[in-house]
Amino acid sequence: MTKTYLTLLVLTAGVLSCKQLACAADPTHADQPALPPAEAISRLKEGNGRYTSGNQQHPHESSEERTYMATASYENLGMTAAEAATRRAELKTSQHPFAIVLSCSDSRVPPEIVFDQGLGDLFVIRVAGNVIDDQSLGSIEYAVDHLAVRLIVVLGHQRCGAVKAARETIAAKSEAPGHIQSLVTAIQPAVEATAKGDLKTTVEANVRNVAQALRSSTPILKPKVDSGELKVVGAYYSLDTGAVAFTDEK
Ligand SMILES: [Zn+2]
Repeated sequence: MTKTYLTLLVLTAGVLSCKQLACAADPTHADQPALPPAEAISRLKEGNGRYTSGNQQHPHESSEERTYMATASYENLGMTAAEAATRRAELKTSQHPFAIVLSCSDSRVPPEIVFDQGLGDLFVIRVAGNVIDDQSLGSIEYAVDHLAVRLIVVLGHQRCGAVKAARETIAAKSEAPGHIQSLVTAIQPAVEATAKGDLKTTVEANVRNVAQALRSSTPILKPKVDSGELKVVGAYYSLDTGAVAFTDEK
């Protein structure tokens, strides 16, 4: 029985003090220990394994939970009635995602689906080419600082159109139209570092660059990376197989 569940039992009994209420609503409180990075990676790998093998559990997806609640078939979700109720109660007032995923906006790479996760599990930032700007960095910092998330995954993918466009635009010494050029500029260091490589090489270099930029980002991320509290890893999604390969796991 988890501490969260115990807290909710106490809440149900109506004997929770104000101090405890404040704690329960505070995602960084010790009552809600954040998942360590290694365990978060394992959970993502397990989910991706379910996805690639066609054995998805579709956990924590509200329509499923509602349907099964109506028929009292919680066992089909691998959840008891109490667990399903606990999950909804948790999400009503707070969120406790166990990983941040910075992924490409590509419609074929939705993190919740490829990692077989549900509501409240992942804090997701999506932008073409999985690059960062101030707003996306601020979003990541919020999840680390306020939600106590301890793992950041930078997820690149096979045949990424944004990286391909950046390679072609830079090779042609051209400029992309409108604001698309801002993506080209962000991906440019990876393109220049892999001028003789293929598209996959550039995608992987871009993931490495972004992951490293996050690791060295001050004032919020770097100290937590240095202390081991926070981990930033790269990953590559194969459109062909659905498999995610993690890199920089050390
Ligand atoms: Zn892409």
